[in-house]
Amino acid sequence: MKVETIAIHSGTIITDTNRPAVQPITTATTFEHHEGSMVYTRAQNPNRLALEQVLAKLEMGADAAAFSSGNAAAMAIYQALPSGSHIIAPDDMYHGIRRQLLEIFKGIHATTFVDMSNLEQVRSCIRPETALIWVETPSNPLLKVTDIKGVVNLAKQFGLKVACDNTFATPIFQNPLLLGADLVMHSTTKFLGGHSDLLGGALICRANDAFWERIRMVQHVGGAVPSPFDCYLLTRSIKTLPYRMRAHHANAMALSKFLSSRPQVEKVFYPGLPEHAGYEVAKAQMSGFSGMLSFTVKGGADTAEAVISKLRWFTHATSLGGVESLIERRAAVEGPDTLTPANLLRVSVGLENPDDLIEDMKQALA
Ligand SMILES: *Cc1c(COP(=O)(O)O)cnc(C)c1O
Repeated sequence: MKVETIAIHSGTIITDTNRPAVQPITTATTFEHHEGSMVYTRAQNPNRLALEQVLAKLEMGADAAAFSSGNAAAMAIYQALPSGSHIIAPDDMYHGIRRQLLEIFKGIHATTFVDMSNLEQVRSCIRPETALIWVETPSNPLLKVTDIKGVVNLAKQFGLKVACDNTFATPIFQNPLLLGADLVMHSTTKFLGGHSDLLGGALICRANDAFWERIRMVQHVGGAVPSPFDCYLLTRSIKTLPYRMRAHHANAMALSKFLSSRPQVEKVFYPGLPEHAGYEVAKAQMSGFSGMLSFTVKGGADTAEAVISKLRWFTHATSLGGVESLIERRAAVEGPDTLTPANLLRVSVGLENPDDLIEDMKQALA
């Protein structure tokens, strides 16, 4: 099956004799005991199972586990590691997960943050207690690209696990498990959900091993599971994911080229531009460059804020991956300890007509 067919037909579980074309929402928290039945919705639910099956297929993994948010999914990996583990994480990464490592797992695990586009630097951070290399590519918000295969090769030499936050690329454009990563993480709140109306996360594994069993245990016993309704919404959204992603990619490509041509713009960060530092690696490991870009404007935070205030079609809001375009001055969201430049605007390029988006950006920059 090709990806468009998987997105529409995989996972669906229909037991009703009326054969509805769409799987109903099973809101029951408990199930009558009988041979092979589900028991309790925190442990299993038909809508969650359908979602997990399609996610595993899309990432070409052995199994998937759905969580109530992307953060909960990431946290399940850190909770499954033996305490005292050392983690290597990128210097540019989703700030909420960075905060988990710094604030929740402080005293439980140790983390070294490193420029992951430099494999020699990654190697130099490996210690006897190192258990995991956390990869995020393209990264949030600087769109830095990490060579997944390069990190995997290094990790294999030292017996380390590799987990990859694949939220920006989506399974449509990048499949880290095929490049040798052990785990993929998604904030399904973003492109997979695609309509800014649900919160969710997922982990997908390459092999159903002992570590995966521990993650399943954290999901079930920890209890950060998505509701049947959110699972339903998400499987519904996934049906159009391949088509939405192509349009997100095309619109972001057009907007990034336009921005690069503007005198008011200092620098554009988009892995689909040949001048981007990660372009060659991105081209080798991604089949599209997705819908996220950032750019810095000449001037400071005030100039950047002024651009936002003049835009008509870009909503001034955080988050990403929805049908509507969003823009934010990222440093303002990340808070005082941010490493993000003050004049950087992060854009989630939506599915509006690209001509309208470019026209709007043109008048806002002028
Ligand atoms: C949003 C996001 C997360 C966190 O996901 P939530 O669903 O908000 O908990 C993790 N990684 C990346 C790259 C994200 O964009």
